[in-house]
Amino acid sequence: MRPTSRSSSRIAVVSTRGAQRWDAGHPWIYRSDVIERPADEPGIAVVRDPRGRPLGQALWSPASEISLRLLDRDVDAELDGEWWHRRLAGAVGRRAPLVGQATAYRLVHGEGDGLPSLVVDRYDRWLVVQLMSAGLETARAAVVEALRALTGCEGILARNDAAVRTREGLPRETTLLHGDVPHQVEVEEHGVRYLAAPWTGQKTGAFLDQRENRALVGRVARGRALDCFSYHGSFALHLARGADDVLALDVSAHALERARANAAANALTNLRTREANAFEFLREEERAGARYDTIVLDPPAFAKTRGALPGALRGYKDVNLRAMRLLAPGGLLFTASCSYHLTKPLFLEMLEAAAADSGRRVALRELRGQPLDHPELLTVPETGYIKGALLEAID
Ligand code: SAH
Repeated sequence: MRPTSRSSSRIAVVSTRGAQRWDAGHPWIYRSDVIERPADEPGIAVVRDPRGRPLGQALWSPASEISLRLLDRDVDAELDGEWWHRRLAGAVGRRAPLVGQATAYRLVHGEGDGLPSLVVDRYDRWLVVQLMSAGLETARAAVVEALRALTGCEGILARNDAAVRTREGLPRETTLLHGDVPHQVEVEEHGVRYLAAPWTGQKTGAFLDQRENRALVGRVARGRALDCFSYHGSFALHLARGADDVLALDVSAHALERARANAAANALTNLRTREANAFEFLREEERAGARYDTIVLDPPAFAKTRGALPGALRGYKDVNLRAMRLLAPGGLLFTASCSYHLTKPLFLEMLEAAAADSGRRVALRELRGQPLDHPELLTVPETGYIKGALLEAID
């Protein structure tokens, strides 16, 4: 497939409100703001305002509510293979500080990197991509070619099984785009080794977004430690470096199997796993009067929609309140939320309410957000979703 370029006849006319979104630094224009739609297939469209003023070029997704995603404000730019190479090179170059610290990190964080609807994660010598719009799909060959040239990777897997693809009229599938990609890849982050599962694991094979928070937890961990919602032991492996013993807890037996393999790969003998529901476990431990010196709470997104927020808040408060009560005096709790709909102020409010009900004096030691490879743009709230806090039970 030839990369689409400005020679494309696609023209979209957008409302003043649509144009204002781009002026305000947000790359999306919704269907309701498209006054004249390009007639044909998805691809790249030249976008104009109602007076005919050219605004830029964008990915065009005819079936989606998000119709246009800004690529370049220059309507004369040739959006060919070289353009994709340049744009991707900028994103890859920004990750230079991570080389040597980790072999698994995000190379492209969609809108955060000026590459809307594209995610690229690196797992050692392999890449996993997600193409999440119909417009972007038409540039697939150029993206793959540029990624090959820029990284020299041995294989590229498309984890195009995300639900958002349906809204774009795209199939959900997992397919190889280049070379070969193993089912398990051993990667390293801040001196800890773990197995990622590109074909079947959550997201693109691991949760790369908490990498720096895991390193933080590794630096402060001590005593008896608990990692709830552990997945394949990600935080637990770091906890085990400073703590005497660590319990990694998850509902998924499969994830815990990998956690044990990960512990072995790091020659750790102080990490145990437990298959359990964290809500029930925390309640039982509280009843039993248990105490922990370090606790990590990194639950899945409880609020997947705005409507689910009230119920999600109760869930977050419940686990946080119980974790606070389980802390030994001076104990530390790292707690996180990856629900986009739970904003930073709501996250803090929830923690304040949990602390109030816990009966403990809880200090806020550090507020945490997303790492360098998951840029959260101030003008694009959708690029940010992780909130974290390091708390200390003073007495
Ligand atoms: N901390 C991990 C990511 C956690 S993802 C990391 O840094 O890689 C959320 C995890 O919570 C998943 O592994 C899921 O299986 C688990 N989970 C979901 N509901 C749970 C529950 N009620 N109790 C325990 N684990 C749960």
